[in-house]
Amino acid sequence: MECPRCKGHHLMVKDHMGIEVDACRNCQGMWLDYHELDELEDRVLADDSVKGSMVYAERASVISCPKCAKRMTTFNYRAYDLPIDFCVDGHGFWLDAGEEKRVLDLMKKRIKDLKRVHSAESEWAGFLKGLASGKSTSGGLMGKIKGLLE
Ligand SMILES: [Zn+2]
Ligand SMILES: [Zn+2]
Repeated sequence: MECPRCKGHHLMVKDHMGIEVDACRNCQGMWLDYHELDELEDRVLADDSVKGSMVYAERASVISCPKCAKRMTTFNYRAYDLPIDFCVDGHGFWLDAGEEKRVLDLMKKRIKDLKRVHSAESEWAGFLKGLASGKSTSGGLMGKIKGLLE
């Protein structure tokens, strides 16, 4: 496969934390097959149910998939300010130099956040509680929901 960023540079198979990735020597970017990004995250946080949604703010990318040459899509990784490119046909993800480290750092941050609220469940419960207490007047969101049910 050719590097999506550097014309003429071919990706070389490389071991990254026990995952076989295709990396570019020129720009240090790296291609992960679809399931490999999840495997990379699992090195830090293995429980998928607390990771949250991965894809936010999708928009057209400027690079093409090295597997199918289709224009890729850029998204913000898990609502953080980390743009990652992926192929909508499910071929994989392109991480620019250093982005795989940021993925792991953000997973570690997520663990810290989760520890602070004990679990994703209580995080959600706290969110609902906040809604209820903040907007408990009849004109608030909860009032509207109640109104819909009546
Ligand atoms: Zn490159
Ligand atoms: Zn593709």
